[in-house]
Amino acid sequence: FQLESEGPVARRIVVANQKGGVGKTTTSVNLAASLAVMEKKVLLVDCDPQGNASSGLGYYPADQRENIYSVLFEPTKIRKAIIQTGVPFLDILPGTQDLVGAEIELVDKFGREYFLRELLEQVDNEYDFIIIDCPPSLGLLTVNALCSANEMLVPLQCEYYALEGIAQLLMTYELVRKRLNPDLAILGVVLTMYDSRNRLSWQVKNEVRKAFPQHLFETIIPRNVRLSEAPSFGKPVINYDIKSKGAEAYLALAQEVERSTTSNG
Ligand code: ADP
Ligand code: MG
Repeated sequence: FQLESEGPVARRIVVANQKGGVGKTTTSVNLAASLAVMEKKVLLVDCDPQGNASSGLGYYPADQRENIYSVLFEPTKIRKAIIQTGVPFLDILPGTQDLVGAEIELVDKFGREYFLRELLEQVDNEYDFIIIDCPPSLGLLTVNALCSANEMLVPLQCEYYALEGIAQLLMTYELVRKRLNPDLAILGVVLTMYDSRNRLSWQVKNEVRKAFPQHLFETIIPRNVRLSEAPSFGKPVINYDIKSKGAEAYLALAQEVERSTTSNG
C-alpha cells in the first residue's frame, strides 16, 4: 500500500481586515499578479460577495456559469469553476453575490468553518500560492477563509482610525488559531494608500511599527491613482502601467512575501 505522491502544498495567504476600503482587494489582486510575474503558479480566490477581485480582472460573476458558490458544497467540481486569466501563471476562482446566501446556508452545517478549506484542498498541490480575498466582515465567510489559510496578511490603510478594529481582528485570529486552525500564522501587516506628504500617514506608520514590530512589511503601498484605475480595465496594475509607483510597490511586496517564512512560535 502506497500513498499517491501529492507534491508540495501551496502557501495559502488570506488577506483579511474587517474594515471596508482598506485595500484588501487591491492587495489580493496585485500581490497575486506580481507573484505570477515571478513565475509562481497562483490561484486568486474571491471570497467576497461583491466580487471585486473578479471584476478587477475582467470577470463578471454574472457571466460565470460556475463560481466559488456553485462549487462550495461540491468540492470535487472546483476545477470547473477555476478560470485561467490573461496573466500567465494566474488563475482565479471567481466570486459571486450568491455568497451572501452561503453565509446563511453554512450556519447550521456540520463543520461549517471548513467548507472553503475542503474546496481548496482539491487543488492546493497545483499552485505555489493561493491568495484569498475576504469580505469586509468577520462572518462565516471570513472564518472559512481564515481556516483555509496558513498565513494571514493584514492591509492597513494609513488613516486616523487605522488601528481601530485591529484588536478585534487579532482576537478573531487568536480564536481561530486556538480552536479551528492551529496552522494559521501572521505573515504581516502592510500599510496601504500611504501619502508621504501627509503627516498622518507618517504617524500611523510609527504607531503600527510600535504595535507590530515583528510583522510590519518593509514595503509600503503608496496612494497611487494607477492602482484605482486598473480594475476598470480588468487588469492588475502591472498589466496596466508597469512603470507606476503602485506596480513597483506590489512587485516589491511580492518579493518580500516570497522571501518570508512564517512560524507559529
Ligand atoms: P477593500 O477590498 O479592503 O474594500 P479595496 O482594495 O477595494 O479595499 O480599495 C478601496 C478603494 O481604494 C478602491 O477604490 C481602490 O481602487 C482604492 N485603492 C486601494 N488601494 C489604493 C492605493 N494604494 N492607491 C490608490 N487607491 C487605492
Ligand atoms: Mg474588497
